[in-house]
Amino acid sequence: MGVTNWPRRVLVTGGAGFIGSHLCRRLLAEGCEVIAFDNLLTGRIENIQPLLGHAHFEFQHYDVTNFLYVEGPLDAILHFASPASPADFERLPIQILKVGSLGTHKALGLAKAKQARFLLASTSECYGDPEVNPQPESYWGNVNPIGIRGVYDEAKRFAEAMTMAYHRHHGVDVRVVRIFNTFGPRMQVDDGRAIPNFFRQAIRGEDVTLYGDGSQTRSFCYVDDLIEGIWRLLNCSHVGPVNIGNPREMSLRAMAEKIIEITSSESRIVTRPLPPDDPKVRRPDITLARKVLNDWEPRIPVEEGLRRTCDYFVSELAAGGH
Ligand code: NAD
Ligand code: UDP
Repeated sequence: MGVTNWPRRVLVTGGAGFIGSHLCRRLLAEGCEVIAFDNLLTGRIENIQPLLGHAHFEFQHYDVTNFLYVEGPLDAILHFASPASPADFERLPIQILKVGSLGTHKALGLAKAKQARFLLASTSECYGDPEVNPQPESYWGNVNPIGIRGVYDEAKRFAEAMTMAYHRHHGVDVRVVRIFNTFGPRMQVDDGRAIPNFFRQAIRGEDVTLYGDGSQTRSFCYVDDLIEGIWRLLNCSHVGPVNIGNPREMSLRAMAEKIIEITSSESRIVTRPLPPDDPKVRRPDITLARKVLNDWEPRIPVEEGLRRTCDYFVSELAAGGH
């Protein structure tokens, strides 16, 4: 990493979140000037604390569903603001719909005004509870628009449609990434997603809660691999959507057992009801990513990623959790 010629000045929405904070670090390491907007709805200032003194970093506590104003040029806007945990789908349904629709609209308007490249953080949730496995980008999905996950799935599908409309109608230069389950340091201990729940419970010696019988699958990608893929997508000519994720699919029961093993925990696994519309399988087809992102594929094995993440959760919980 060094000093990049492009992009020089970048706005990251959701910059204080889990993925956003990793992205800000990577962009700074590439020599970019970074502006992060975040209303701290599900993010934390601690995620970007070390960046606050950086000469090329600026943070604004701001809700991006409102009119966006940035002084001076912008080369790229990376729109990552949105709660992402299924636990938030019931807690924050309106905020999720607003940031996916109004927030995307505002960020696209700013991209148009600044002639900046716009990169949308979309999601594997666009595929809903898929009837095709693995999921290629050409699959249109199986989403229940009025179910509890619908607020997130439909907001992201709307965001993709809005992004493509700005691209086709206004000529805005866009990229769309469909992110599959990603994990790593700076996930919130209590955000309700499977990996933080399993680590918190296992480290504390509490029961590990498996929803359903645990046969449902996901494919978990370590955050550094995702960030590398996003950086390559930002710098390539392919509009997308492009799946980025780890094609290694595993059951949630296997993940719970792995986390119990890695934490050397004596916790036992207990089952809880499966939430409605919970996808039964999920696995990215990354053929397109390999092709257009210069042979990109995940480099960090899940076990290695989990060990790094374990160190983070152990220190977070020792510091009192949150
Ligand atoms: P996160 O909750 O840690 O980060 C989201 C950030 O957006 C938070 O800091 C939050 O405060 C901020 N935010 C929410 N609404 C906002 C608003 N109206 N104005 C300004 N800021 C706002 O979640 P994450 O896992 O880092 O996800 C980041 C992005 O990646 C999201 O768009 C999510 O949909 C997408 N994504 C994540 C995953 C994953 O596995 N982590 C998978 C698919 C897609
Ligand atoms: N899950 C679980 N126990 C938990 C939290 C989640 O078994 O304590 C399951 C959840 O039902 C889903 C999978 O783990 O099948 C992944 O859930 P997560 O919330 O991480 O994200 P999703 O992939 O569903 O968006």
